[in-house]
Order: sequence, then structure tokens, then C-alpha cells
Amino acid sequence: MRTQVAIIGAGPSGLLLGQLLHKAGIDNIIVERQSGDYVLSRIRAGVLEQITMDLLEQAGVAQRAHAEGLPHHGIELLFKGERHRIDMHKLTGGKQVMVYGQTEVTRDLMDARAAAGLSTVYEASQVSLHDFDGTQPRVRYVKDGVTHEIECDFIAGCDGYHGVSRASVPAGAIHEYEKVYPFGWLGVLADVPPVS
Ligand SMILES: Cc1cc2nc3c(=O)[nH]c(=O)nc-3n(C[C@H](O)[C@H](O)[C@H](O)COP(=O)(O)OP(=O)(O)OC[C@H]3O[C@@H](n4cnc5c(N)ncnc54)[C@H](O)[C@@H]3O)c2cc1C
Repeated sequence: MRTQVAIIGAGPSGLLLGQLLHKAGIDNIIVERQSGDYVLSRIRAGVLEQITMDLLEQAGVAQRAHAEGLPHHGIELLFKGERHRIDMHKLTGGKQVMVYGQTEVTRDLMDARAAAGLSTVYEASQVSLHDFDGTQPRVRYVKDGVTHEIECDFIAGCDGYHGVSRASVPAGAIHEYEKVYPFGWLGVLADVPPVS
């Protein structure tokens, strides 16, 4: 098998990268260790920041998020019976957050991938990376007891901090990029019955 970019991991990063590469005319294959159903049912994020929505739009997969998501322009904090509105929309020059589940983002990206006819290998075990810093990078994996190899130009490790990609890069070759925000996060836990 040959492709331009072999992507490890079919989470939001891998699927979105695959879609953006496809839009740029670059062929790619995703290799994921879990099943598609497992990935789809993995509950995580629910709030998408403006930058995420912008990227989904760029990838051409934001239609359903706009139709079914709940845009939030701000929040209200109550102290001693007084309401204090934090108008995030106004304070940030028009930005907002969108309440839309990660499972739905994943579904939209998977649908777009299927519509584009792009390959995703689910339930791939023993995924290993070879020569990714050389001229002939390869990804090897086992599926249904058979070993397969993908030849590619680049390998994109989108399998998370604890995935095989990061562990395969020699310590001296890793450059870490970190963005430290000048504010903290406010978490509020509410003990209320679920909304039906
Ligand atoms: C409880 C919770 C709440 C969150 N809430 C929000 C929120 O409100 N808003 C927000 O923006 N973000 C939120 N996040 C963060 C968001 O979920 C993550 O940023 C996002 O899932 C990261 O996507 P990813 O594709 O990089 O990694 P992952 O989602 O972890 O995907 C990595 C993929 O790689 C696969 N993989 C791993 N190892 C291998 C291997 N060896 N071979 C092949 N495949 C492999 C995994 O199975 C997985 O499918 C939340 C996270 C959690 C846990």
C-alpha cells in the first residue's frame, strides 16, 4: 500500500488532518487501533472554541454543527443576588463558543471521509513506525492476523500523548511547543438531574 501521508489515530486530530489534507489534494490513510464504533461512542468534549469551529469550516465539515449546535456568547455569574454578565462575544471582538459534542464532530468527519472515498484502517494492532526521518517512511500494522505495510512520504502521529508515535521519536529529535494562556479555567460542577 502507498499513500502520501500515513496518519496514526482516528481521533479529532487525525480525522481533521485527513480532511484538510484531502482538501489540499494530498492523499492519506488513517490507521486506528480501535473500531469505528468505539471511536464514535467515546464521549469527551462538548464545547468547541471559535478556533476549532474556524478549522471545521475550513475543512468543510461545519454545516451540522452550525445547524444543531448551541452558540454561547457569554455567561452570567451571580454574587449576592446580583447578575454579572460576561459578554465573551463583545469582549473578544465577535468570538463565541459552540456547544456540540465531540461524538458529533467525529461523525461529521467520518462521514466526510467516507464521502471522499478515503481509507481508514480500524482495529489495527501492533502499529509501528519505521524510517519516519528517512526517505522511505513506513507504517506497519496487523489486521485480522495479517501484517500490512504502508509506504508514505510523511507519517503524522495523531495518536495522543501516550500513543506509539511520540514513543518512536528519538528524544533528541522532539521539539515541544507549548502555549501558556494568561488566565486560568473556571470549572463549575452542578448537581442537577439530566435534561431530557
Ligand atoms: C473529559 C474530557 C472533556 C473534554 N472536554 C473538551 C471540551 O469541552 N472542548 C474541547 O475542545 N476539548 C475537550 N477535551 C479534549 C479533547 O477531547 C481532546 O483534545 C481530543 O480528543 C484530542 O484529540 P486527538 O485526536 O488529538 O486525540 P484522541 O482523541 O486521544 O485520539 C487519538 C486516537 O489515536 C488512537 N491511538 C492511540 N494509540 C494508537 C496506536 N498505537 N495505534 C493506532 N491508533 C492509536 C486512539 O484510539 C484514538 O482514537 C476533553 C477531554 C476529556 C477527556
